[in-house]
Amino acid sequence: MPSKVILVLIDGLAWQVAHDGMGYLQGLCEAGRASLHCLDSALPSLSRPLYECILTGATPVESGIVNNGVARLSTQQSVFHLARDAGLVTAAAAYHWISELYNRTPYLAVRDRFTDDASLPIRHGVFYHDDSYPDEHLLLDAEMLRRRHDPDFLFIHPMNVDDAGHRHGYDSPQYRNAARRIDTQLATYLDVWMELGYQVIVTSDHGMNNDKTHGGVLPEERQVPLFALGDRFRHDGAAAPLQTQICGIVADLLGLRHGKANNREILAC
Ligand SMILES: [Zn+2]
Repeated sequence: MPSKVILVLIDGLAWQVAHDGMGYLQGLCEAGRASLHCLDSALPSLSRPLYECILTGATPVESGIVNNGVARLSTQQSVFHLARDAGLVTAAAAYHWISELYNRTPYLAVRDRFTDDASLPIRHGVFYHDDSYPDEHLLLDAEMLRRRHDPDFLFIHPMNVDDAGHRHGYDSPQYRNAARRIDTQLATYLDVWMELGYQVIVTSDHGMNNDKTHGGVLPEERQVPLFALGDRFRHDGAAAPLQTQICGIVADLLGLRHGKANNREILAC
């Protein structure tokens, strides 16, 4: 039975900070409604290469999106492509690099910031291009898309945690508090979404280091959380999904035919 899916990619959220600071998500885990998994990002631990990894299942080495400067359309089949080709409705509230990877390159704000085009892989989009665009506004953009267009697949991509990390570093109150804030903000929506039957994944592309950047293999820049919420998940903490399997897991939840790597341990059915 296909489900609707919301994938939340909190940019730059390190595993330990999510584990220690995201009390609402941890509360859902304690209640047996969610599970938390630790996974290693693919490499390099950079944003644009890992957006591509999460949304297509291809590592940066495989996709050729090897750094943040590779500003071209993806050559991979993303979950947006798979869903559109199956007649499902896709939507995203996300940083403009997502529009560049799957809809149109280069991103032209006057054309692309608000997108409604059934021919594009992301049919309905609200894209932003300032790293300090408030997460609270971004979540409102996403909820507007959900209410207005009833998407089968909704991708939500807030940037303030990564932005705080680049300004203040991994071991800083500002970085930790940015994670606590998005946990609080998400709490407003998660109950509603789960009540409506959405399956929700909350994860990150990469973490952050004390040099106020990321890209390498330090645990704090590579280890990221994956919270799985909803009744289609087994909620077995021992399951060990890979970042390259997220695309396949989402495609399975949506009921799509695909050739992506997935992880059967995490899914109940
Ligand atoms: Zn970053």
